[in-house]
Amino acid sequence: MSAPPRIVLFDLDGTVIDSTALIRESHRHAVRTVLGTELADDVLVANVGIPLIEQMKLFDPERAEDLMAAYQEWNHRMTPELLREYEGISALLADLRAGGRSLGIVTSKAGPVVELAWSVLPLAQHFDVVVSSEATDRHKPHPDPVRHALIEHGGRPDEAVLVGDSPFDLRAGRAAGLTTIAVTWGFFPRPVLERERPDMIVDTVPELRAALGLS
Ligand SMILES: [Mg+2]
Repeated sequence: MSAPPRIVLFDLDGTVIDSTALIRESHRHAVRTVLGTELADDVLVANVGIPLIEQMKLFDPERAEDLMAAYQEWNHRMTPELLREYEGISALLADLRAGGRSLGIVTSKAGPVVELAWSVLPLAQHFDVVVSSEATDRHKPHPDPVRHALIEHGGRPDEAVLVGDSPFDLRAGRAAGLTTIAVTWGFFPRPVLERERPDMIVDTVPELRAALGLS
């Protein structure tokens, strides 16, 4: 990246908000109560980043609706207790905005669940655009939600960067023509992200600040 990007698009879960424990335990609860199965942590979260119903179909296509209902009931009830903010993210967002950047969220989450997250962690005021799962028919790793966010920002791919913690984010961002930055503090370990060959990989919020042209 030569100049700092004018538009910064963020994935939500595992990138801006620390929902790792909440989502992993919601999956565990759903799989345990509906299927009577215990799965390893990395299996439970292997497909976080695609729409929830698609993740449930991968556990059991016949029981996906029941799994989703069990997940959602537990997840919504436990959100206030388990949802966390990553240290330094709120300041990063505020500083980007103060520097005249335009910020967006591109998430596979449904709008009401995004609102639930904002009710626990008040970060919504930092974002000019929020693209949730209702906005497009196709979802990450397809580039459509990223393109939709760019259209809402009135921006071009070469003015924008996508920051995300999953292979799905990085593929969607690249396919839309954006610079991609992988963060390693979310759901996916560094080797998985390295395989996607993002433009940059950062391990800490200070590293992300530097990558986005902040001190
Ligand atoms: Mg994510």
